[in-house]
Amino acid sequence: MRKASARLRGRPSVDGAGVSLLRVLGNSDAGELDPFLLLDHFGSDDPAEYEAGFPWHPHRGIETVTYLLEGKVAHGDSMGNRGTIEAGDAQWMTAGSGIIHQEMPEHGSEGPGMHGFQLWVNLPARLKMTEPRYRSVLAGEIPRVVHDGGEVLVLAGEYEGVRGATPDLFVPILYLIVRLKPGARLRIPLPDAFNAAAYLFEGEASLSGQEASKGELLHFPPLFEGSPESNRGSVEAEAGPDGASFLLIAGQPLREPIAWGGPIVMNTRKELEEAFSDYRKGTFIRQKPQGI
Ligand code: FE
Repeated sequence: MRKASARLRGRPSVDGAGVSLLRVLGNSDAGELDPFLLLDHFGSDDPAEYEAGFPWHPHRGIETVTYLLEGKVAHGDSMGNRGTIEAGDAQWMTAGSGIIHQEMPEHGSEGPGMHGFQLWVNLPARLKMTEPRYRSVLAGEIPRVVHDGGEVLVLAGEYEGVRGATPDLFVPILYLIVRLKPGARLRIPLPDAFNAAAYLFEGEASLSGQEASKGELLHFPPLFEGSPESNRGSVEAEAGPDGASFLLIAGQPLREPIAWGGPIVMNTRKELEEAFSDYRKGTFIRQKPQGI
């Protein structure tokens, strides 16, 4: 069983033009969950708490992965991509050398309410300035592994031989959305070298023997040579009396220096300053727009 080493609780924060959210992982966690930098859980039924959205802003050096549980988000970017994602859809945006985009909530067909997650995956030094890439993943394209006790959506990586919806990742990660019925059990095997975390967004669960409730993240650090045999293998989940829903994310740590300034994450202070100076000078975007 892979044991948790730490527990984080989402901190109420405001970002974008005034979106209330829970910051589960952020700048103050200093790359603890390498290769993951940030995890936001946005969830509100009150449009006043989210409708200001995330107007045009730059990113460089990272990937942002958005998964929507409820609501609708319209996006546009400097590569010419335009579209909306709806409940159950995801978008995988590799900022690489630079992208300027906006993410604006709209009312979903089920009425007001906006719930979902944004995860930032760091890019290794050799890919910080790679060509930007945008992929939208529709709900129906995300493979679903159904068990008696619940279901596992495989957004990225592999689970029980089922490959995720997003192949050819720059940074190989596992991203599962797990929903368990009351009392159901599930074993999730993890590569020993991967840093992993489970974020509970509904109900309660025991995760490798540790209780977690809604809004909590348990960190399962990578296993190194010499770690005790009892501390290997899988996360063993058991849902509480009302069932449980959680994200399981895992990835190979990059172990590189992090220079983080708002939406831009590079390796050195100098690269960060260069990025901000590019933005001021209007030379931030290195790629010509496609399709516009
Ligand atoms: Fe963004």
